[in-house]
Amino acid sequence: MKVAIVGLGIAGLRAAMLLEASGATVELYEARGRPGGRLHTIDEGGGAIYEAGGEWIDSDHNRVLSLLSEFNLEPDPKSNHWPGRVVYRGKSISEDSLWSDAMEDDLRVEAAAKEMCRELKLPAWDNPQHKELDERTLEHFLREHTQSERGLWWVTSRYRSDEGDDPENISLLGWLSMYKLYVDRDGDVMSAFRFPGGARSLCESMLGKIQGQAHFGKVLRKVHQDPLGVTLTFDGGVTTKVDKAILTLPPPALERVVFEPALSVQKRCAVEACRMSRAIKIVWQFKEAWWRDQGWGGGMHCDGPLQQTWDGGLGEAPILTAYVCGREAAEWVRLGDPVRAGVFELAKIYPEAAKTFERGWVHNWIGDSFAHGAFSSLAPGYVLEFMQHIGVHEGNVHFAGEHTANWAGFIEGALESAERVHAELIEPQA
Ligand SMILES: Cc1cc2nc3c(=O)[nH]c(=O)nc-3n(C[C@H](O)[C@H](O)[C@H](O)COP(=O)(O)OP(=O)(O)OC[C@H]3O[C@@H](n4cnc5c(N)ncnc54)[C@H](O)[C@@H]3O)c2cc1C
Repeated sequence: MKVAIVGLGIAGLRAAMLLEASGATVELYEARGRPGGRLHTIDEGGGAIYEAGGEWIDSDHNRVLSLLSEFNLEPDPKSNHWPGRVVYRGKSISEDSLWSDAMEDDLRVEAAAKEMCRELKLPAWDNPQHKELDERTLEHFLREHTQSERGLWWVTSRYRSDEGDDPENISLLGWLSMYKLYVDRDGDVMSAFRFPGGARSLCESMLGKIQGQAHFGKVLRKVHQDPLGVTLTFDGGVTTKVDKAILTLPPPALERVVFEPALSVQKRCAVEACRMSRAIKIVWQFKEAWWRDQGWGGGMHCDGPLQQTWDGGLGEAPILTAYVCGREAAEWVRLGDPVRAGVFELAKIYPEAAKTFERGWVHNWIGDSFAHGAFSSLAPGYVLEFMQHIGVHEGNVHFAGEHTANWAGFIEGALESAERVHAELIEPQA
């Protein structure tokens, strides 16, 4: 069986590895000039190395952790980053001694979420009796279960960071279904590890293990199916004919591809309805790691426009990363010089930032031509009406990528989707 895999993010790479191990012949096509997609470790020279895209691995993301161990890579623990600081209305405290009103609200939200998600089934769309939850937003839920202004700000900040967008854009059912995946976790499993040496080394190792040829700079434009197989056409008229194709493109990129015959109405509606979160990273290099000298790891949630920072350096150079989501992110990328504007904002809290700033970069995923956002986010109404159709194959064309998984949005979800398409292609023939 000859299979073309389009999109060499981690979903496409993993699908290729699994299919080859089962005896299929694979051909790989990628629009960018590199593998990894939304996993993108950047080396700017001079020891400035950081993740521009996906970065954190939760301790129960078992597929990611076992993939790392397959390549003898040890996950890098975040323990030196925690506790972070929390800055609200000019006051700064450590995350492990949060103001009691904020902590109580946090616990109230967690208790209510745990209670509600126990009633839910997985996958998320298997809850038709909870239409009302799908139409409600996470913002509504957070307001309902908090009692102080500071507590509401804190839980909003926390969950906006997880969701990559403002809680007003997230379906409560979608959020609770994701929460259910964590409900029986022990302690703090979120963002427990990073990729050792950056995600790039894993993606390159994966590519190195694949026998099939990888073609870079190939933008898929057309997919034609007939009884003899699937013909893919890329920019510049390059074509290939295969038995099966796996498309891992994020939904907005998929929308730009022509299908002959057209995709089913359910699939087209699902692709169009799937929203991408608005998250960006602003990265600064400083002369010295002034935050470490102050005895903290660089992690911060603040009520200003920078929202969240952490020590993002993977090399020698002192690097801080700001992770900004939602409406605020869309505003940052409209600025002429978000890097300097960011230093100005940071210096309002930490004057050392302005004094020691050297250079910086902004990674605008909202404007990225092959992602159009950071990761799929479950908008109100999406889960029950559209989500179940997004990963279903249409004839010999199969769909993978984080947006098609239970672990939607995560690296873990991208790997989950690779396992699913592998089973779709291989098991029926076994
Ligand atoms: C800023 C940011 C922070 C994140 N943080 C985390 C995190 O901490 N933890 C976590 O688990 N996840 C995180 N994520 C999400 C995670 O990175 C993604 O879920 C995962 O990498 C998606 O993998 P994928 O293979 O499904 O998609 P992608 O990596 O997007 O792969 C799809 C590939 O298709 C290619 N493509 C698109 N259009 C075409 C076309 N027309 N023709 C050919 N190729 C095409 C793309 O170039 C891309 O390489 C983050 C993402 C971002 C952007």
